[in-house]
Amino acid sequence: MLSTKDFSGIEPFEKKVWLSSPTMHGDELRYMKEAYETNWMSTVGANINEAEKQIAQKVGCRYAVALSAGTAALHLATKLAGERLYGMARPSEGTLRGHKVFCSDMTFDATVNPVAYEDGEAVFIDTERDTWNMDPAALEKAFALYPDVRLLVTAHLYGTPGKIDEIRAVAKAHDALIIEDAAESLGALYKGRQTGTFGDYNAISFNGNKIITGSSGGMFLTDSREDADKVRKWSTQSREAAPWYQHEEIGYNYRMSNVIAGVIRGQIPYLDEHIAQKKAIYERYREGLSDLPVTMNPYDADNSEPNFWLSCLLIDPSAMCRQVRGEKQPLFISEPGKTCPSEILEAIGSINAEGRPIWKPMHLQPIYRMNGFVTAKGNGRGQSNAYIDEGEAQDTGADIFARGLCLPSDNKMTEEQQDRIIEVIHRCFA
Ligand SMILES: *Cc1c(COP(=O)(O)O)cnc(C)c1O
Repeated sequence: MLSTKDFSGIEPFEKKVWLSSPTMHGDELRYMKEAYETNWMSTVGANINEAEKQIAQKVGCRYAVALSAGTAALHLATKLAGERLYGMARPSEGTLRGHKVFCSDMTFDATVNPVAYEDGEAVFIDTERDTWNMDPAALEKAFALYPDVRLLVTAHLYGTPGKIDEIRAVAKAHDALIIEDAAESLGALYKGRQTGTFGDYNAISFNGNKIITGSSGGMFLTDSREDADKVRKWSTQSREAAPWYQHEEIGYNYRMSNVIAGVIRGQIPYLDEHIAQKKAIYERYREGLSDLPVTMNPYDADNSEPNFWLSCLLIDPSAMCRQVRGEKQPLFISEPGKTCPSEILEAIGSINAEGRPIWKPMHLQPIYRMNGFVTAKGNGRGQSNAYIDEGEAQDTGADIFARGLCLPSDNKMTEEQQDRIIEVIHRCFA
C-alpha cells in the first residue's frame, strides 16, 4: 500500500500548496467594509446590484440573479424547467415528479442533486474523451432508450467547455431543454461565446475554490426577464406583492448576502488575470510532464478557450500500476516504472501539496446506484462498473476516474513550487 518510490531530497513545502484556494486583491475588503459602514448587512444592497450587473455584462446575458450558492442556482434552474415542462407542482411535490432527466456523469454531485430535490430521476450520460464532458453520442443513445425525456443537465468540467453545439443539436432534435452548469467554467469561451449562455437555464458558482470567489455564492443567468423575476421571488421566500407575507408558492431562502457580493465585486476585475495564471500553470505542467506516459486534461483548441481552473493528468494504461478503490479506501501495488493516481496523490500530499482524484462518476456513487446510465454503446448498467486493472474500463467515466487526477492548481503557486511537484510526479514513474 505504501509507495516504494524514492522521494529523498525533495523537501516538503513549509506552507501548503492548495488545489485551488481563494486569491484576494484588496478591493474585496473595501466593498465588504462599505456594506458594513452603510449598514447594508443583508440580502439587499449596492454590492449585489453591481455584482449582478457586472457578471451579466461580462458573460453576455441580460440578467444575473445573485444567490447563496451555485447549487441554489442549479436548484431553481431545475425547478423552472420542471414547471415549464410539467406544470406547477403541489407544495408537497417536486416539479419533476418522477420524470427522468439526462445528466452529466463525471461531475460534482451538485450538478445532479437538484433533479432529486425536484423529485426527478437522473439518468447519467457517459463522458467523451476529447473534453471530458457529456458525450453527445451517448446522449443520442439515451434518447433512443428513453424517448420521453425533455430535460438535460450538462457541466463543463474543470473549466473546459464541452461539445456544446453537438449537445444542443441532439437536445433540439428531441425537443429537450438544457440546464448549463458553468460553475467551474466562468470566463471560458466556446466559439467566442462565454459558457453560461448556452443553456435554457444557466448557473455559475463563487464557491471558495472556484476561479473567482465570494467565499460562497452563485448566480442564475438568463435572457428571460420572467425567469429572472421568478428566481428572485423564489429565492426570497416567494412573497407575493401584498402588504403582509402572502404566499402562493413554496419559497426558499437562497438570496446572496450583500457582504458576500462585496467580495465578488472585488474579484470580478481579476477574472482574466486568474485565467491567465491558471493557463500558465497548465502549460508548465504540460511541458514539465511531456517526457512521461501521461496526457493533460484535453480541450478543443479550435473551438474553445478553457479557463484552466484545474490542471489534471491522465496516466497511459500501459503505465498504470495495479490499483483498486473500495467505497472509502484505495489500494495499490507500487511497481517500478509504473504508478497510479493513488500513489501520485500520496506523493504530492507527502510534500504538503494538495491534489484530488477526478470527480467519481455519479453512476458509481452508492446514492445513485439504481439510476440509469447510458454509454455511447447503449445501456451502461448491467455491465460491470469496476475498473479491471489489467483490462479496459467498462465506460469512459470509470476509466478517467481510474487513471486521472487533479494537480495542485493554485494561482499563487510559484514556478519553483510547481517544479518540485513535477519532480515528485517523475519519481512516481521511476
Ligand atoms: C462548485 C460546483 C457546483 C456548486 O456550486 P456551489 O456554489 O458550491 O454550490 C456545481 N457544479 C459544479 C460542477 C461545481 O464544481
